[in-house]
Amino acid sequence: YYDDNTVIYLNGKWLSAKSAKTGLYQQSFHYGNGVFEGIRSYATDQGTKILRAKAHFERLLYSAKTMYIDLHHSVDEMIELTYQLLEKNNLKDAYIRPLVYTDERLGLQAESQSNLFLCAWDWSQYFDAGDLKLKVSPYCRPDPNSCHVDAKVSGHYVNSILATKDAHDSGFDDALLLDQQGHVAEASGANFFLQKDGVLYTPPKGHILPGITRSIVMEMAAANGIAVKEKLFKPDEIYGAQGAFLTGTAVEIKAIGTVDNKPFSRHWEDTFGATLQQQFQRKVRNQKVEYKKVRAA
Ligand code: PMP
Repeated sequence: YYDDNTVIYLNGKWLSAKSAKTGLYQQSFHYGNGVFEGIRSYATDQGTKILRAKAHFERLLYSAKTMYIDLHHSVDEMIELTYQLLEKNNLKDAYIRPLVYTDERLGLQAESQSNLFLCAWDWSQYFDAGDLKLKVSPYCRPDPNSCHVDAKVSGHYVNSILATKDAHDSGFDDALLLDQQGHVAEASGANFFLQKDGVLYTPPKGHILPGITRSIVMEMAAANGIAVKEKLFKPDEIYGAQGAFLTGTAVEIKAIGTVDNKPFSRHWEDTFGATLQQQFQRKVRNQKVEYKKVRAA
């Protein structure tokens, strides 16, 4: 993630990643009370562009608000700092990680004082090449009555880490987590789309982080005339469907080959996911996208 030359932003200063320091008594460190984002930038004809920068920093502010954390920066300020960060590190196609961590406090009162840390690195491929093998996880997503599932809070990710470990230990690439009622929710760090009977289904808000890539895919699907329905469904509806894919900033659009070792009825190339994946790669680089009127089949 960093080397001798990497520059980071921390609380108003540009520092070398190797020499930057922080305290050991922060609430974030002990209890996971911090919020973060995952953002990508792409090289385009008009220079480096951060994809949906505004939406990501608005979500960061929203996540901070759910945890009563004061973040003393506006969306515009943070976007400007992020462009500076990319320039200082000579990065174009980059993965950007803003982290807001709370100050020193070891009691459980909400800590409002925050630190803003920005870093970026080259993370071209999140998963290895090839279609993903997903395992329906024995771990459920956090209950929306227990925490703000739609916020990107550091502590929520222990759930993702456990589910990923379980999936890897059983020879799978990633976990597909359900809600407490057994409906499909999302993968460890990405949203799930299912193509069935010529329609794209995706779980509704509730037990998921409503992804920004998920919104982009919904907009692109509409432009192609593909119907998208937000619907609760159980894993047995996946088996025998036409295809499926994950969406997320890190994973972008990624084909799923099997869920619990069961394949889909179509080759990836013949699914909506493949069309959207190609269009997405052009769109993020500001290249012209030819939307098709896809016939439901
Ligand atoms: N769900 C979870 C749990 C995630 O961590 C992510 C990655 N941020 C997503 C979904 C996808 O969200 P986005 O498209 O905004 O990256």
